[in-house]
Amino acid sequence: MHSPRQSTSPKAVPLVKWIWNSYLKTALIPFICVELVFLGVYFITNDWIKGENVEMIQSSANEELIRIAEREAISIRHEAGGIEHAVQMLASQAKHQLVQASALPLEEASRLIYHPEGMYYTYKDRTGGGGAALYYTGHVPVGEQEREKAAKLFQIQDVLRDVKESQPLAASAYINTYDSLNVIYPYFDVIEQYMPHIDVTALNFYYEADEAHNPQRKSVWTEPYYDLAGNGWITSVIAPIDSEERMEGVAGIDITIDTFVDKVLNLSIPWNGYGMLISEEGTMLAFPDAAKSEWKLSRNIYEQNRQSVFVDTLRTQEHGWGSYEIGGKSQLISWSTVPQLNWKLIVVAPEELIYANAAQVEQTMTRVGGWMIAGLLVFYSIFILYLYIQAKRMSRFIANPISHMRQMVGRIGEGEYRQERPQLRIQEMQETADKLGEMGHELGDTKDKWLQASLRAEERESHLQALLSSLDDVIFEIDKHYRYVRIWTKDEGYLVKSKHELIGNTLSSALPGDLATRYMDIVNETLTTNRTQTLEYALQTMKEEWRWFSARVSPILKQTNEENTVLILVRDITERKQMEQRLIEAKNAAELASQAKSEFLSRVSHELRTPLNAILGFAQVMQFDPEEPLSEVQMDNVDEIMRAGKHLLELINEVLDITRIESGKMSLSMETVAVDELLNECMDLLEPMAQDYGIALKKEQTAACHLVIHADYTRLKQVLINLMSNAVKYNRNAGSVLVGCELVHQEVRISVTDTGPGIPEDQMQLIFEPFTRIEDQTVGIEGSGIGLTLARQLTELMGGRIEVESKVGEGSRFSVYLPHNLKPIESDPDVEAAISNSETKYQVLYIDDNPANLLLMDKVAVHLPEVEWKNVKSGREGIQLAGQQCPDLILLDIHMPEMDGFETLEVLRSLQRCCDIPVIAVSASISSLDHKKAMELGFDDYIPKPIELSSFVHKIKTYLHA
Ligand code: ADP
Repeated sequence: MHSPRQSTSPKAVPLVKWIWNSYLKTALIPFICVELVFLGVYFITNDWIKGENVEMIQSSANEELIRIAEREAISIRHEAGGIEHAVQMLASQAKHQLVQASALPLEEASRLIYHPEGMYYTYKDRTGGGGAALYYTGHVPVGEQEREKAAKLFQIQDVLRDVKESQPLAASAYINTYDSLNVIYPYFDVIEQYMPHIDVTALNFYYEADEAHNPQRKSVWTEPYYDLAGNGWITSVIAPIDSEERMEGVAGIDITIDTFVDKVLNLSIPWNGYGMLISEEGTMLAFPDAAKSEWKLSRNIYEQNRQSVFVDTLRTQEHGWGSYEIGGKSQLISWSTVPQLNWKLIVVAPEELIYANAAQVEQTMTRVGGWMIAGLLVFYSIFILYLYIQAKRMSRFIANPISHMRQMVGRIGEGEYRQERPQLRIQEMQETADKLGEMGHELGDTKDKWLQASLRAEERESHLQALLSSLDDVIFEIDKHYRYVRIWTKDEGYLVKSKHELIGNTLSSALPGDLATRYMDIVNETLTTNRTQTLEYALQTMKEEWRWFSARVSPILKQTNEENTVLILVRDITERKQMEQRLIEAKNAAELASQAKSEFLSRVSHELRTPLNAILGFAQVMQFDPEEPLSEVQMDNVDEIMRAGKHLLELINEVLDITRIESGKMSLSMETVAVDELLNECMDLLEPMAQDYGIALKKEQTAACHLVIHADYTRLKQVLINLMSNAVKYNRNAGSVLVGCELVHQEVRISVTDTGPGIPEDQMQLIFEPFTRIEDQTVGIEGSGIGLTLARQLTELMGGRIEVESKVGEGSRFSVYLPHNLKPIESDPDVEAAISNSETKYQVLYIDDNPANLLLMDKVAVHLPEVEWKNVKSGREGIQLAGQQCPDLILLDIHMPEMDGFETLEVLRSLQRCCDIPVIAVSASISSLDHKKAMELGFDDYIPKPIELSSFVHKIKTYLHA
């Protein structure tokens, strides 16, 4: 059973929560964000509008206050201007009066008297009133001259009266002179009011008009002061009366400030504002009661508020405005200076009242904002509630079909595969449910099939178990940890431990160490490569006996996720092993026997070939001896010797060849062979024989003759000569032999066709058996019956085959098939030409222990006139001679007593003078091993004995002229 897979996905959430979350993510949160942004924009705009509003109100209020301050200042100035004009006029009138001599009317003169303390003054008014008062303070003694001056200036009293009457703000009009004469209208009791002997020039309403204080010589406004004569706060406007010598005095008008004060106090200023008037020096001229408590005012504002920023600004700037903290609240203040008078008119209004409107608008907007937030909160609460209900509804809508499907799946899981098709309201769900239903049906069908299959499998399993139990073999299943998983055996005696001891345990716990290691390596190899491995071993089983086993280890590839295991099939091969052992022993014995046979044959052959070499060699020498030519009879006899010798040699050679092939010791020298060349050579060799037999030997000249094949040249020549000589031998009188060549399916077929008696069907295979001849056809014909045997074996050794076709009475055709070689051969240099052109005398050293052979070589020398022969009997002598004379070629026998040919060659090669001389082995040994060894040890060539005179001579020439 499969365990449920561990889920790595995030924790599952209920559907309602999921829908709710998606509502929140997709609708609610962006919605709320947008609303919050709107609210933010609203409040920021509100704040900005409020700021703009306040600024606008502030600037309009400022403008209004500045306008009021300036307007009132100008109005005051206008009024003051008239007064200045009047005082100027008064001054010029007085100046004029001072220089004009005129007598004082009596009535007026009667009002002037001396005071006992020296003052000169009016002691009464005009009768009926309307006169001025005069007062010489007595600071300067009043003499005639002074009385005259008094009389002059006293006459100006009507002017004074006119001035006073014409100026509504004027409290009095007067003239003061430098010698303290004072004429003043309206009349009052001067003695009572004035101090005696005062110096008028020391008073501000005099000296402020003098040269030092008033260089422009204009009218001057004095600092307001409190009038002791009962006029309250007044100020004086004075104008200098200059003569050519000096300043004679001043003309002045006293102004009651109350008029300005009232004007200021009655100013109509919006926002409950009020006006204030201060003099140049900071004296408070007019201020309402409200201001008094707010400003905590005393008479002089500058002295009182020395540290105040506002006062500093006010003092230094003629016009201005600003917002200042006065009386614990913020006040908007603007001021303007009255020209000439330098009074400052200040207009004050509380800011809270100015901004009341703006504040109210702001409050209203804030309230609206608050309501908006509350409204939104209510809206969102309802909206969230609505969404939540919607999410629940939707989750129910989706969850119901899902739960329906879940139930379906559950029922299918419990085995109720065939479910009714539900009716659902969501199309995709309906389709899914339909698919589920179909799936259930298919599952049901599959389950049925599976049940049947598993029943069949169980049946098969029990059959298999029965089969396994009936097997002699033991079967193990091993996992990748080398543990026994399952074991099947009919006989537990074949195990090393009982089945239940082995299952779950490892190979190493059950088997001996080295065997367990071999097994584990093989199990590993099998699991890695998925290839079957085999193993053989001997093991002591529970039966207490050693037995041989063969194991086949094969992988079991699991389709499921299970790990692969291996199946080991172990078979008891003890009997086979014993048989093998017997066979090996028999084979060894046979090999030993065969070896002994080969050695025997080799030795016999050597012993036979050595005298045969002498026989054939001398026979040849006799045949070709130019000095002592043979008679015809002798020649015939020698021919007979030669024929018998060659036949014997041939027989020996063929027997040895067959022995070699059978013992697997035949070695071939495979090369590229030109067919045409080979056939020509064979034709040449066979031609004399064909002539002897009166047979016409012909060769078909076809294109295939120019092909090349892969073969051992000498051996193939041997095969062809055998076939051709048979064709000549077994022929009719004046018959013919045709040698042909053709290409058949990538094979070259060389055929030898004769016109002989033919071979009966039943003999066709027999003739290839050794020493088998067709009796009635071979009478009188020389032969041993092994030529064809050897020909077939040699051909097959070269990778080819021999086939025979024959018709009795008509003739036979023997065909040799060999693979076609595509490579062309290179033509050999024309050695013969080189040899014939040579005139050099060469030295050849021949080393052989056999005196007959040495003698033979002397005879052979006749055929090589350009060679000077040196014959020695042992290796030692040969080495000595070679060291002294450095011959051009050395011929060396192999089988010699004391020092054999191999040892002699070794010494020769070690001599510096001789190391490059070509050395050819000349041996009667037919052992291919000797031949092979000779070539390996450094012989340049190998000539077998008995020598074939012409090829021997040719080979020597080849080496000498190389
Ligand atoms: P040998 O020729 O020495 O007897 P072979 O093995 O060459 O031995 O031949 C075996 C026998 O096959 C021959 O004795 C001969 O009877 C028969 N034979 C071989 N070649 C031919 C042939 N061309 N025509 C008829 N018979 C032949």
